[in-house]
Amino acid sequence: MYAEMDDFYQRMKNRLKQCRKERNDLEEILAFYDKVLSAQHETQEETPLPEIDLAEEQIEVRIAEGFPLIESGNFSVDSNSSDRLFRRLCQISETENPVLASAGKALLAALDSGTLETAELSKAVLQNRVETIEGYAKDLEVPLPVLQALAKLSIQPSLLATVAIVGKSSELNKWRYGYCPICGGLPAIAALVGEEGKRKALCSFCGHLWWLPRLVCPFCDTESQEDLRYFFGEGDDLYRVQVCLQCKGYLKVVDTREGGDLMALAVDDVVTAHLDLLAEEEGYQRKAPRLWGI
Ligand SMILES: [Zn+2]
Ligand SMILES: [Zn+2]
Repeated sequence: MYAEMDDFYQRMKNRLKQCRKERNDLEEILAFYDKVLSAQHETQEETPLPEIDLAEEQIEVRIAEGFPLIESGNFSVDSNSSDRLFRRLCQISETENPVLASAGKALLAALDSGTLETAELSKAVLQNRVETIEGYAKDLEVPLPVLQALAKLSIQPSLLATVAIVGKSSELNKWRYGYCPICGGLPAIAALVGEEGKRKALCSFCGHLWWLPRLVCPFCDTESQEDLRYFFGEGDDLYRVQVCLQCKGYLKVVDTREGGDLMALAVDDVVTAHLDLLAEEEGYQRKAPRLWGI
């Protein structure tokens, strides 16, 4: 299990390295991301694998009926390791990134004085209680997207540990929905894989990868082909944006036959922020939350 997770971090780092060579304009955020990945990788080794109370029969029934296996609020977070990681990410923010420096400093001070409880913060992220996080952000005079991103990044090793266990079930291959079979999250980004170019989606909450049904909008389930279109970024075959005229949703897609790495889609989500802008300018909306609103 840990070997697989090591492999994941290695591939994320390799992809990030490639992107840093090509995208000087994003150097600041990508250098920060590199440090974040190293800190997460170190934390992963200290994060125990959770006990998952899900019998194979339960998994079978839930998958057959279209119910995700675990509600996001019920994911277990190892508070010791996520606490340490949150503090580490605040330090990295303070010392490595000019845009995040003052937020990092304010958060460290709040941790030291006890005005910020990471356990409370993690719970709010799991249960998607934005008003709690907003309350902290306001009190501590830290931008909300920064606090949200740091809080989410600090619990990712715990989420990954859960996904590493639950994702093993072969039942998951029977899932045919646009939302994540493990947590119900929406796709952050997707990839075209194999010669036929089947789509695999990356969950915006738990990071699980699952097969998306073909020729269907993952957000509104429409199969009306004239409403499903796509466009490419300028001079770029690697990425396309699939859009739905019915629900106005869009999904960025990496064509892994052209490059990139299926295991590192989260990196491509960051480096294609320009495509999010383009899609929004065209009147489409990103349905899944964006991790890096910073
Ligand atoms: Zn998920
Ligand atoms: Zn749609």
